[in-house]
Order: sequence, then C-alpha cells, then structure tokens
Amino acid sequence: MKYYDKLIFELSKEGRTAFTLPADRWGMDCTGAIPSALRREKDAVLPQVSEVDVVRHYTNLSQMNFGVDTGFYPLGSCTMKYNPKINEEIASMGAFAGLHPLQPDHTVMGALEVYDGLDHALAAITGMAHFTFLPCAGAHGELTGLMIMRQYHMAKGDLKRTKVIVPDSAHGTNPASAAVCGLEVVEVKSNADGLVDVEALKPLLGDDIAGIMMTNPNTLGLFEREIGEIATLVHGCGGLLYYDGANMNPLLGMVRPGDMGFDIMHLNLHKTFSTPHGGGGPGSGPVGVAEHLVEFLPKTRVSGFNGNFGVILRAYAYILMLGKQNVKLAGKYATMSANYIKESLKDCYKLPIPSVCKHEFVFDGLINDGSREGVEGATTLDVAKRLLDFGFHAPTIYFPLLFHQALMIEPTETESIETIDAFIDVMKKIAAEAAEDPSFLKSAPHCAPISRPDETTAARQPVLKWQDSL
Ligand SMILES: *Cc1c(COP(=O)(O)O)cnc(C)c1O
Repeated sequence: MKYYDKLIFELSKEGRTAFTLPADRWGMDCTGAIPSALRREKDAVLPQVSEVDVVRHYTNLSQMNFGVDTGFYPLGSCTMKYNPKINEEIASMGAFAGLHPLQPDHTVMGALEVYDGLDHALAAITGMAHFTFLPCAGAHGELTGLMIMRQYHMAKGDLKRTKVIVPDSAHGTNPASAAVCGLEVVEVKSNADGLVDVEALKPLLGDDIAGIMMTNPNTLGLFEREIGEIATLVHGCGGLLYYDGANMNPLLGMVRPGDMGFDIMHLNLHKTFSTPHGGGGPGSGPVGVAEHLVEFLPKTRVSGFNGNFGVILRAYAYILMLGKQNVKLAGKYATMSANYIKESLKDCYKLPIPSVCKHEFVFDGLINDGSREGVEGATTLDVAKRLLDFGFHAPTIYFPLLFHQALMIEPTETESIETIDAFIDVMKKIAAEAAEDPSFLKSAPHCAPISRPDETTAARQPVLKWQDSL
C-alpha cells in the first residue's frame, strides 16, 4: 500500500491545519447567530491535515476512478462508450444550465424547441409517433411505458389483462418494472439459438395478457428474426409490444422498432445518445409510443418538471452533429467491433451461441480453465479480476443468467482497432495463464488498491465512509 492510499483520517495529526481564518477577522463572534438548537453538541471529528495532504488525498482519489475517459470499458448491456466532449460543453452553456423549471413559458422557448426537435429526431430514428421526456432512467421509462400499456387496456374497460410476458434473457429491470407496475410476470423461454421460442410463446397468449417486453437485438446481442410473427401473435391476442431500447446503438439508422411492430418503447439517452453514465446518474429514459397511444403519454407526475434537461440537450446536439448519414455508422461499427472480438477469442473462450451478433455477445467461461486433478480451474470472475491488472475494465460477468460462466462483452462503436486488438491480446494472455496455473488468476488483481473483497458483504453491507470510532 502506498503512503497516500491511507484514509485522510489516518493522515490526521492533532493541531495540523491547512489554513486558519483569524478569529477576529470581522471583529465579531458569529457563533451566537446560530440558534442553539441547530448547533453541534460536540465538535465534528474532522481530519487535521496540511494543504498538501488535502490536495494529494483528492488527487489520488480521483486517479483511482475508472471510466471511459481512462480506459476501455467493455461492459455488456451497458454501452459504456466515449461521448464527445462538445456535448458536455453545450450542456454547460449558461443559457441552458441556468434555466429554472418555474421560469415563465415565454423565456424558455429555446428549451422547448430542444424537446420538440429531439422528439422529431427520435420519432424518425425509432418509428414511434411521439416521446415523453419525463422519465429519468431506463427502468423509469419501462415503468412509465407499462403504465401507458395498462392505461390503454383500462380505457377500453379491459381489466383482465394483468400479465406481462418477459423473455428469460431480458434485462433484470424488465420483470422488476412489471412487478412495480402491479403486473404479473410470465417468463418465456429462449430456444437453443438464444432467441424467443415462438412455440413456447403461443400457449402463454390469451385475454389476460397486457403485452410483451422485448429487446431486439436481445440481451445476448442477437437479432430476433421472428419478431414479425411474434408481433402478429401478441397483437392477435389483444396485447401490446414493449421495446426495451436501452441499447439502440446497433439499430441506429438501420431498423426501427416501430416498423417491427412495437407499440411502446424507451431509449436510454445516457447509453446510446451521448450522456456519460455510471455511478447513478443523471439519466434520461424517454418513452415513445405509436400513434394510437399518443393520448396516453403522461403530461406530468412521472417525474418533477420535465426530466433531465441536460441529458436531453446532449442527445439532441449529438444527433444533429452526426446527421442522418453518420448516425448509421454507430450501429455498423458497434456490430463490427463485437463480431471481431468474438471471432478473435472463440478459440480461447467458450462461445455458446456462435451466430453473428449485433453490438454484444456472451462467452461462457474459458475453454481450458487449467483445472486438473485436485486443482480448481479459473472462473469468469478470475478472468475479470485479472483484466484489471492490464488497465481494462471487466466485461459484465454472470449475466445473463442463461449461462453459468457468462462473460458479456460490448465494445461499442467508439473504440479504435488498436485498442480492440490490445484487449484481444490481453484476453488471450489471460487464457494462457489460466491453462498454465489458475492459482495465479485466483489471486488477481495484483495491481489494484484492493483485490478480493467479500462480494456479498460488499454489496449488501457496504461500508462507504470512514466511521468515527471515538
Ligand atoms: C441499462 C439497461 C436498462 C436500465 O436502464 P437504467 O437507466 O439503468 O435504469 C434496461 N434495459 C436494458 C437492456 C439495459 O441495458
């Protein structure tokens, strides 16, 4: 451990200060101005450190972060792509950043034009009629979309429709949103090709089905070829089709959910359309609907005011800058990068579904994990941990649940061939290390500040701040 990896409280030395205001600078004692009920009973326990310690503390902390600005981040089902900095610049322009949601309408015409322009652009890209920009995340959009679905049935007096069909490969938020919306989740299985099993879908359909939630390409990065038939079947039983468009990259300018038969969808502007994400926000999950559902779009109440305007603005700037022609390239590059990695590594990692993928794909652990008599082989977790030593973020692991050793890779459209080749080389090297001596991987990462926390405790009872033991 480096000296400055210590917590700032551990660097503290009684009486050391960075800077002290003279007690009588203003010739008065202000403590009396604070009502006694609001005053501390005892002094806050603060670290006592010099200015240089403070500066080094925060600078070192900032360098412990990993993000798309520091390295390759192939996190499947997350679209961790590089986002042009000019969009950040535009979002921070005073005329936009200084807007207040309660300003008089006539002073925010420019902002309303941004909403309107993005509504038209997204409608053109997705084949939906109109969008609401209220939802602040993908899951929030799902909930909003499902409420629209439920409202549509209720408006027709059709109260039996309480079930939503969700494929077993779906993103975890899909069944969760349906449950939060008070709908019952019915799972439909995938077939051996990783696609929705149409024969398994048929018996589930009836007059109690509100709709189906799907994404296409699905969470395995595979295009649902039978989407036309699925749409006919679901519509045939009176249900609606919901499209999870969180990761629209592979489809941009190529295919439109509206043309595939979807009625409702959400997009994650913070994945596909330029807002950097991770760490919990801010996000935007606009919901689009086909013409026959426009009347059910929420006017208010889904979130405060009009959603996350800064995210909406970045998306609009991004789309305008790419233009119709270049928007198409995003899908092509994302798909090409994913297939290139898949084909380059399939001799080292198990590829359960070998077909051409879209923007992402899944391996199912190592082909040769090094296991021998009495020696436990390297797992997907070990591969992910070892990758950190090489400065790459790990892919998504153990998701989707369809495979025991899932390793889900999404390179996105923004990486150069050199970066992708470097990643492939490292993945090959790790596979070779595993075959030779899996124990070396089991102690990885060897270069990170911490190596192997207890994953369950770290997730369930995280200790994220220093606790005063005094
Ligand atoms: C990320 C993602 C979501 C959820 O989006 P949030 O903004 O994190 O709520 C939903 N579906 C899919 C397929 C996703 O990749």
